[in-house]
Amino acid sequence: MDRRDFFKTSLMGAGALAAASSPLGLLSGCAPKAKKSDAGLHLSFQHGTPPGETLAEKFDYMERLGIEGYEPGGQYLLSNFNDIEQNLRGRAIKVSAICAGFRGFILAEDPAVKAEFDTSMREIIDAAGKIGSVGVIMVPAFNGQKPCLPHTQETRDYLCEQLHDLGEYALQRGTTVILEPLNRRECFYLRLVADAAAICRDAKSEGVKCMGDFWHMQEETSDYAAFMAAGEKYLQHVHIANRGNRRMPGETPEVDNYVDGFRALKQLNYPHYVSFECGCGGDPEVLVPAAVQLLRDQWAQA
Ligand code: MG
Repeated sequence: MDRRDFFKTSLMGAGALAAASSPLGLLSGCAPKAKKSDAGLHLSFQHGTPPGETLAEKFDYMERLGIEGYEPGGQYLLSNFNDIEQNLRGRAIKVSAICAGFRGFILAEDPAVKAEFDTSMREIIDAAGKIGSVGVIMVPAFNGQKPCLPHTQETRDYLCEQLHDLGEYALQRGTTVILEPLNRRECFYLRLVADAAAICRDAKSEGVKCMGDFWHMQEETSDYAAFMAAGEKYLQHVHIANRGNRRMPGETPEVDNYVDGFRALKQLNYPHYVSFECGCGGDPEVLVPAAVQLLRDQWAQA
């Protein structure tokens, strides 16, 4: 299969040919004729991103900016489930993903810590399914979480088996588990989107998905390739932050370029959310709307 056929087949296989945008930057000179993508940019905020004391104030603010998703932490979801559900009623905002919040970790060597993970993760999955979340985000093991199973083939096989069970459990509850690759400073075990996607494939459950976080994706050689490697089959969520300081996109303009990744999302007709996971280095009333506008402009360019 030559390069032209590869792209043609991939896009047709994704059911996306008719709607795919022209990937001018990557394919100039050898691109198949592709129509403009219909994929929209669906932005989401984590709980701490919008100004406001109450959920109602935060959601009002988000609606004014056209933000469609809300990403709470797992513990916040459990403690405030009814409040979240009531405040979302009648609004154009849905829960996007749930950001972790479980205790223990899946690769814990200590059975008690692993059991704590199993119980608390399933509790969050239950709530995530009830509130309509696309999934619950998890990291297999942060560098500081010890004792941890050794980085071996046996551990990877074990991880895939465990994820299979967790994925099937999540599916039954109408949601998924989402693996988040980080970077070597935080999680040596899982650093690349393609590696997370390969684990999803080997877990053999439709309930096991992965995501990319533009902040951590500084380890990737290409944002475009990273998202395309996960593809529509596995890519379930995206985090975004300024790549210089993990604050609002736009605070470090020289590195605030998301066009390459957005082009992949458009070609994939990515239907899920791009969610802010970042701090804010100044007045949020100024920096948050500016960040939203920057991302919309870059989406249009992609
Ligand atoms: Mg993240």
